[in-house]
Amino acid sequence: CEGLVKIYKMSELEVFALQGLDLQVEKGELMAIIGNSGSGKSTLLNMLGGLDRPSAGSLVVDGKDLLKFKERDLVRYKQETVGFVWQNNARNLVPYLTALENVEIPMMLAGKRKRQRALELLESVGLSHRAKNKLHQLSGGEQQRVAIAIALANHPKLLLADEPTGSVDSRMAAQILDLFRILNREIGITIVIVTHDPELAKKVDRVVAIRDGKISSEMLRKRSYDEDLAEIEQGGVIEAE
Ligand code: ATP
Ligand code: MG
Repeated sequence: CEGLVKIYKMSELEVFALQGLDLQVEKGELMAIIGNSGSGKSTLLNMLGGLDRPSAGSLVVDGKDLLKFKERDLVRYKQETVGFVWQNNARNLVPYLTALENVEIPMMLAGKRKRQRALELLESVGLSHRAKNKLHQLSGGEQQRVAIAIALANHPKLLLADEPTGSVDSRMAAQILDLFRILNREIGITIVIVTHDPELAKKVDRVVAIRDGKISSEMLRKRSYDEDLAEIEQGGVIEAE
């Protein structure tokens, strides 16, 4: 995005949430966005995900100019290009259905009943062994992994996560981050994570800070695949119980 501006207009008040923000996310990158409360992180994510429209600037994803999108283009973009994970995703899941059913149902609603695909998705988030458990029997971190499986159902190119570890403890947060890294490395999906968690900065390719609706500094840190693997193996964070 270049010169991205988002103004929220309320009756007499205007909030300048994004004030000319420039950001380039590389294909295949795993990046984190940090910044104080109210700095515009969620607003940026919502723009990237086509959930809301910018007031000005340019926003191009995978060669497509989102500002030129008509309503139906946006619907398709949300279905086919992006996946979302939120802090309280687990709230949108159904506690008395199994993990597998929770993944399958959104696919059924989209007209595709694909048990095999749902199983593969659970496997990709390290939860095959919990497929038949009711959701309420899973830990908070495991529930969040079910939500990530759902977000991956349509093979998105871009995964957007807003405070995905906000409601789980630090051990589970580490598991979720390692999962993002594995997905990023193995299926090559581009991932943008908004977070308050400083530990996360050590685990991603790049951290960008937002301040008052603009990028304030860019910390470049390129991790190698080997570095990732070594750490995951050492920590044994994703256990295949
Ligand atoms: P947090 O870390 O607390 O989640 P954030 O960085 O995600 O904060 P945003 O939610 O992007 O911040 O909000 C940026 C600014 O825009 C804030 O001043 C907020 O009050 C305002 N804002 C966000 N959404 C709306 C909305 N729908 N209507 C009006 N103002 C909004
Ligand atoms: Mg936010």
